Amino acid sequence: MREQDPKERITNFFEVPYGYSEEEAVAEANRCLQCPAKPCVSGCPVEIDIPAFIRKVRERNFEEAAKILKQYNNLPAICGRVCPQETQCEARCVVGKIPNSEPVAIGRLERFVADWEAEHAVQTRIEIAPAKHRKVAVVGSGPAGLTVAADLAKKGYEVHIFETLHKAGGVLVYGIPEFRLPKSIVEREVNYVKSLSVQIFLNMPVGRAIPVKDLLAEYDAVFIGVGAGTPKFMGIEGTNLNGVYSANEFLTRVNLMKAYLFPEYDTPVRRGKKVIVVGGGNVAMDAARSALRLGAESVTVVYRRTEEEMPARREEYIHAVEEGIKFYWLTQPIRYVGNEKGELVGVECISMMLGEPDESGRRRPIPIEDSRFILEADTVIEAIGTEANRFLLSQFDGLKLNKYGYIIADEKTGATSLRKVFAGGDIVTGAATVIEAMGAGKRAAEWIDRFLSGEYDPWK
Ligand SMILES: Cc1cc2nc3c(=O)[nH]c(=O)nc-3n(C[C@H](O)[C@H](O)[C@H](O)COP(=O)(O)OP(=O)(O)OC[C@H]3O[C@@H](n4cnc5c(N)ncnc54)[C@H](O)[C@@H]3O)c2cc1C
Ligand code: SF4
Repeated sequence: MREQDPKERITNFFEVPYGYSEEEAVAEANRCLQCPAKPCVSGCPVEIDIPAFIRKVRERNFEEAAKILKQYNNLPAICGRVCPQETQCEARCVVGKIPNSEPVAIGRLERFVADWEAEHAVQTRIEIAPAKHRKVAVVGSGPAGLTVAADLAKKGYEVHIFETLHKAGGVLVYGIPEFRLPKSIVEREVNYVKSLSVQIFLNMPVGRAIPVKDLLAEYDAVFIGVGAGTPKFMGIEGTNLNGVYSANEFLTRVNLMKAYLFPEYDTPVRRGKKVIVVGGGNVAMDAARSALRLGAESVTVVYRRTEEEMPARREEYIHAVEEGIKFYWLTQPIRYVGNEKGELVGVECISMMLGEPDESGRRRPIPIEDSRFILEADTVIEAIGTEANRFLLSQFDGLKLNKYGYIIADEKTGATSLRKVFAGGDIVTGAATVIEAMGAGKRAAEWIDRFLSGEYDPWK
């Protein structure tokens, strides 16, 4: 797919890949073998009928292709951009098993169809069932919340989403940067969900602005999709120095508050010259690439394992390398070094080696004695993971959590230990993916419907 040139794109926040033209999309669709067993579908958490929509692209019936996509996925323009297709649908594609052959680019085709639909202002007509006169509250407007809400609205329920921030979308608006997922696209897909009569109440932290007991009293069912947005810090010496950020704060300033357009937008962000990002996931890649676009002279990612173990999407890692981001593998910060004014000036690191595999199956990093060294830095961004917000969950009296503080919910239905309360997305699984959160939302919608229709009641 055509992309912005790396030299050019590090000076702006515009989207990196341009997307397919109609000709390119049809040519790619023609590579699909239309396998009757559809192995690609089993790799998709929302089970899109992939060969069916690709067949419509092949026939140049893009409108029909969009309709098929929307039957399964309420946010296709987003999934086409940020899903790790290489480990999901595309990983199962039979064309990818042929030597020297790439799998069909399912994600790119999905993106093409969703963008085509928007550009041609075709509003896919979705059937909405007659009103059921039952109310469902959804806490959080991330991909899990938006999906459960859209699906329940289609089934005729009155759905109210409560969102603590001033914009809907969860990580899609505050975490994933503009150059990977333009915010106008998130807005477009959120508007589609609203067009199904879902009401979204912004600036409404449940547990603060609305007591949990009121929610439980007013609604027939509640879905918790609050994500896992509380940052973790390594807690090493110097964490409170000026210049040390959590990736959450850094990305929220840049993406949600548009600090990259300061002073046009009034939230500032530190424009570091020598930036170090700690971690090896998507969040680390996003923070590093954002810092570069804010004008850093050098951005270095330090990761305690090697390239092989890093969890970031391959495409994002390649983009980061193309943009000139440096990587220190097998490296762990152990202390932040400050000056007399309390500002960060360096990061003391230690080299690591890999030992035996740990519980995650990845080889455990072990520090190498006498290998300390200092990297100069005026900004550090820690992207070492996030966790559940325990304050909110403690207000749901009787809600069972696992040892990591995430909600225990039935894998199939999303039902929690608390009557009429369902949950899904990162708040159940820990930090995962957009499509998994959507899959959980989809399943929960199905079972909330069955619960409210009297067919299913695990709390009896
Ligand atoms: C920087 C970054 C990059 C990522 N990149 C990718 C990627 O490329 N591909 C991919 O598949 N996944 C990616 N992920 C992971 C993905 O974004 C998450 O797995 C997904 O967003 C989880 O969806 P969710 O609906 O469970 O939660 P979230 O998206 O976290 O949404 C939860 C929402 O609930 C709201 N909320 C929280 N508490 C309350 C409350 N008390 N009351 C009301 N509202 C509340 C929050 O404000 C938020 O809007 C990335 C994550 C991050 C942080
Ligand atoms: S597995 Fe690949 S080739 Fe087969 S139907 Fe799916 S996308 Fe087409």
